[in-house]
Amino acid sequence: VTVRIGLEIHVYLKTHSKLFCACSARFLEAPAPNTQVCALCTGQPGAKPMGVNAEALRLGLQVAQALGCTLMPGVRFQRKHYFYPDSPANYQRTATPHGTNGSLEGVRIRELHWEEDPGAYDLREGTVDYNRAGAPLLEIVTEPDLRDPAHARAFLAELRFLLDHLDANYEAAGLKADVNVSVPGGERVEVKNVNGLRNVETAIDHEVARQTEAISRGEPVGRETRHFDEVRGVTTRLRTKEEEADYRYMEDPDLPWLPLPPALLSETLLPEAPLARRTRFETAFGLARAEATTLLRERSLADAFEALASTLPPAAVAEFLQRDLRGELHARGLTFTASGISVAELTALLSGLGARSITPQVATRLLRERLDFGRSLVEGVRAEAAEKGTAEQAVGEAVVAALAENPKAVEDYRAGKATALNFLVGAVMKRLKGRAAPDVVRAAVEAGLGNLR
Ligand SMILES: [Zn+2]
Repeated sequence: VTVRIGLEIHVYLKTHSKLFCACSARFLEAPAPNTQVCALCTGQPGAKPMGVNAEALRLGLQVAQALGCTLMPGVRFQRKHYFYPDSPANYQRTATPHGTNGSLEGVRIRELHWEEDPGAYDLREGTVDYNRAGAPLLEIVTEPDLRDPAHARAFLAELRFLLDHLDANYEAAGLKADVNVSVPGGERVEVKNVNGLRNVETAIDHEVARQTEAISRGEPVGRETRHFDEVRGVTTRLRTKEEEADYRYMEDPDLPWLPLPPALLSETLLPEAPLARRTRFETAFGLARAEATTLLRERSLADAFEALASTLPPAAVAEFLQRDLRGELHARGLTFTASGISVAELTALLSGLGARSITPQVATRLLRERLDFGRSLVEGVRAEAAEKGTAEQAVGEAVVAALAENPKAVEDYRAGKATALNFLVGAVMKRLKGRAAPDVVRAAVEAGLGNLR
């Protein structure tokens, strides 16, 4: 028997509106409390849901597919009753699973289902903000297959990768998880409502250590529910979990059985599962796992990579995209999609770099001008290449003239007098009025002397 860790992860789906009404689901962007609400999401008598948000259905199905789940032919929404100010209807709508028996990173996924978020109740002020109420959540329930904190970290990193690739989670809202941990000799302890992946990891670390230590001291670890203290990074006792709360589940009479017909499934399904695509990036393009993961984190960037790598060296493309491009995007808080940069522009930039008509420094400058001022990369590369051509021509002409005017220096150089080269370089620099790099001029003079020979 080993440590057993299971997770119930709540992901805020990245939709425009809430699960059952047209109110904005971007509750963090609300101007003030209770401004993104309606009769339905504040649970007013008689308000009935008119349907289920199609975006939430699409994203939930894609996540289920990416986790290798068996998809259900349909779902039913149930009312989960409880009494607390965050839910004026006194129940939360939660669906039966739409995906079951998946797996990720060696962890079995028991099931996935949709549910609505309750409001946010402030215990001290006694106020409630319902902007969040009705926001679409996806709950992902694992079997207790996570072996240790490191395994949990790897699992969560993979899950985050999938959610990012599918652009499925409202990232700013973070995610919440209930963490179940049991160590040999103890019972299952549940840590409720841990916010964010980092805290989930910390909570697991803390619980495994705490329970292991208690057992080693001969203290019993009974079944209980604990709270995670974000500030101190520890868990504290909440209540002894004697039995499951009675939620009096019942089918929601306002929402009929929701079929997930083959047509919806087939238009929703991804052409290639994200993990399979990553494996293909590794084998077909020779990318390391970390590189492929970075590129696939944003689907449009991965698509751009594939298009570019069909004509340009994949290794150089991957390096540029994940280091230079993502670095510049990250510094501006932009996604690749939001930047509006096209594959044609990147082709121009990377071809220019490959042909050495622009230097890496110039490439970076052009990229910045594109992001900050909207200057086209195609135009930028063309202008730089033309300028470079003109500059090279000017250097060439100056070298020819300087060599013709200084036959003595040329002769001295041929006789093995090294200082003569410096003199000739100086003569060219003078003609160019210093508008050229000394090493470029030196190379051009050496080439010119070689041609005279
Ligand atoms: Zn509403």
